[in-house]
Amino acid sequence: MASIVWFRDDLRVADNPALLAAWHDGDAVALFVLDEQSDGIRPLGAAAKWWLHHGLESLRADLGALGIPLLLRRGPAGAAVAEAVEATGAASVYWNRRYGGPERAVDASVKEWASSADVHAESFQASLLHEPWTVKTGQGNPYQVFTPFWRTVSAQDFRAPLDAPAPDAARTKGGGSRGSDSGGSGSGGSGSGDSGPRGGGNQDAGRRATPEPGDLDDLDLLPTRPDWSAGLADAWTPGETAAHEALADFLEGPVRDYADGRDRPDRDGTSRLSPYLRWGHLSPFQVWAGLASRRREAGDGGSVFAAELGWREFCWHQLFHHPDLATANLRPGFDAFPWEWPREPGSATPALLRAHAPCRDASSGAGTADGQDAADGQDAAGGGDSAPRPAPRDDDTDPVDAWKAGLTGIPLVDAGQRQLWHTGWMHNRVRMVSASFLVKNLGVHWRVGEEWFWETLVDADAASNPASWQWVAGSGADAAPFFRIFNPQTQAKKFDPDGLYVARWAPDALTPSYPEPLVDLKESRQRALDAYATIR
Ligand code: FAD
Repeated sequence: MASIVWFRDDLRVADNPALLAAWHDGDAVALFVLDEQSDGIRPLGAAAKWWLHHGLESLRADLGALGIPLLLRRGPAGAAVAEAVEATGAASVYWNRRYGGPERAVDASVKEWASSADVHAESFQASLLHEPWTVKTGQGNPYQVFTPFWRTVSAQDFRAPLDAPAPDAARTKGGGSRGSDSGGSGSGGSGSGDSGPRGGGNQDAGRRATPEPGDLDDLDLLPTRPDWSAGLADAWTPGETAAHEALADFLEGPVRDYADGRDRPDRDGTSRLSPYLRWGHLSPFQVWAGLASRRREAGDGGSVFAAELGWREFCWHQLFHHPDLATANLRPGFDAFPWEWPREPGSATPALLRAHAPCRDASSGAGTADGQDAADGQDAAGGGDSAPRPAPRDDDTDPVDAWKAGLTGIPLVDAGQRQLWHTGWMHNRVRMVSASFLVKNLGVHWRVGEEWFWETLVDADAASNPASWQWVAGSGADAAPFFRIFNPQTQAKKFDPDGLYVARWAPDALTPSYPEPLVDLKESRQRALDAYATIR
């Protein structure tokens, strides 16, 4: 009897409880649905789509080695799952849980449909070490502060990672080391239990022919006109094998100096695991177990690194409890903040965000602004050169565009923005500095920056991105106080002392043609503090 394993943000064959469940049933068929239509699902940014294309390619090969076909579909996920069940005659559908609001609604509706169709539906914990509804403060509320949150979560014993299905191993139907947590609160968040009926009418139908797998290119995930992805391809290898190599490399060396090294953009001091975790080529359980096996050698670096994984958990904790994290201030006091741009957040924001929707992919052809951005992007990325050279800034360039292009005249910010544009990733320290510059020195609403990162990061994450922007802006949970404003020059001296990072990404910062700073750092800092004083 066929069963469907529905892949989403978990593009891996190891430590994948949903895949194991389908495998043990026998006749597993994998499904991925590019869902841009279900209510409230945030469309992926261009860099994330690029990653997804290659991630799916890699997953298809890995599943192929296990004899499992991967069906690729577009459209509302609910309809695609129902269609796959019908076409294969599957009696069961399995998936690993998601924690965003619209995603949970989709999953809940699929579970409801399955129940009515007499199809067994079961979900599993796989992408977070904690499930957000399981930990609460003493008062029974979600955590707002990281330290007690992480103390509680990290005191738990996390399960060991599960093996990938083994082609030669005998399958025990419905059994084996599946790590199922059925009976917990389902991904629909309804708390109504995980499993639907098992083995209903569909079992009688038997296995039908495997449906047409679907062409990866038909998902239209890659940029074509122009193809700006050379820098991404130079920097990254998406997929599960590369994820494990990255983890092993990090645990082999950099983790030992991570406590200091993580703040140095001029060194390879961090793991660069973020896109692998984002796409689930690697699970947090695997990273945790890998770290535990090296805890002694890793020393302090290991604990600091573990806490960063904790921040990832904390961001998802926030998103689960505040599904509108990407659009609404967690601290409502910030609703009245007098941003210099947009001047009236709320009324003006959507139009402005649309006008600046940073679409690099001209093939999507949504208006001249997009096409222009795409063409500029090709220049900025230098067509795969190691150091991107943006077009010169002119007097009319608006500040947000200058920030996006890495032309603010502030070397560390510009280096970071160009690293982002070129590789789809930016070092965490520089993310903080660049975000602070946009929000505080330029007075731009954090949502503008959040949207840009969403579009350009290969690790763009529905929880970590908005939570981090709100953290920088001061409007978020356990956030940096607004009045603590990074000075990008001091930050550069401290964390890029020899100027290597700036020389790598913004070599023109050392030449006379480099633009003047967009704003005076001291004056703009004071303006930010004055603006903040109006909402205190
Ligand atoms: P490491 O330092 O090696 O950390 C290991 C892992 O821990 C990371 O891969 C990541 O999964 C997690 N992690 C580390 N720091 C954080 C953090 N502050 N918050 C949440 N998780 C963390 N991270 C994303 O994964 N996706 C995003 O969209 C994202 N947007 C950000 C936006 C801003 C404005 C800022 C300031 C930070 C953002 N981060 C985001 C967090 C952080 O910058 C990246 O996770 C980190 O730079 C990834 O590099 P790494 O894998 O080498 O991290």
